[in-house]
Amino acid sequence: MRRKIVAGNWKMHKNAEETEDFLNELIAALPDDIEAEVIVAPPFVNLASAADHVEFTPITVAAQNMHQAESGAFTGEISAAMLKSIGVNTVILGHSERRAYFNETDAALANKVDTALKHDMTVIFCFGEELKDRQNGQHFNVVENQLRDGLFHIDDKDWAQIVLAYEPVWAIGTGETATPDQAQEMHEFIRNTLRSRYPQVAEDVSILYGGSVKPDNAREIFSKPDVDGGLIGGAALKVADFVAIAEAI
Ligand code: PGA
Repeated sequence: MRRKIVAGNWKMHKNAEETEDFLNELIAALPDDIEAEVIVAPPFVNLASAADHVEFTPITVAAQNMHQAESGAFTGEISAAMLKSIGVNTVILGHSERRAYFNETDAALANKVDTALKHDMTVIFCFGEELKDRQNGQHFNVVENQLRDGLFHIDDKDWAQIVLAYEPVWAIGTGETATPDQAQEMHEFIRNTLRSRYPQVAEDVSILYGGSVKPDNAREIFSKPDVDGGLIGGAALKVADFVAIAEAI
């Protein structure tokens, strides 16, 4: 059985007080029988308090990024060991905003993946094509290359720590979602691409969809056979919307 996951990527939103309020409301609002694993990714400064807050609840806290080095002269950066030391064992890597605005390349991401695995962390690995790639009919190639360059160097056993998040860049924060059929088509392609190198992983890995998932489209997207959940941006900032999406699994 593949893990069903709904993860909220808060990006650069919510201060300390808002984080605490959100988590209190979320803990109260999540039904006991929720099928999805629920993850929230606040900004770095509130990770430690968030991790404390969700201890003894089913909610997991993730970081939105980390540096690949163990430590060193990297002003402004955060290491895997630092995250682990505050009880954060999950990290989002390769989000399209990191790729676009902070020049994160597939090669750099492959290093970050290695560091996270070395620290026994779970990685939510994001990838997806830009609008021009889809318009040029290159979307399958782009996705295949991102997967190969970022992840195809790891061992079979390491895949137990990997969750994939397919996020077409043109659907992120735009209100334009991939149709459920477009999402399914790409998720199936991703599994087929994995099958050639990691036959068992292709069956077992969870593939989340991200890009303008909302309460009113989540159920249909999640009903597709190769979609195992979602990585949610804007709609993860309101407790009611986030819970409705988590319940749509
Ligand atoms: P969105 O963002 O849901 O606001 O489109 C998704 C993401 O960036 O992970």
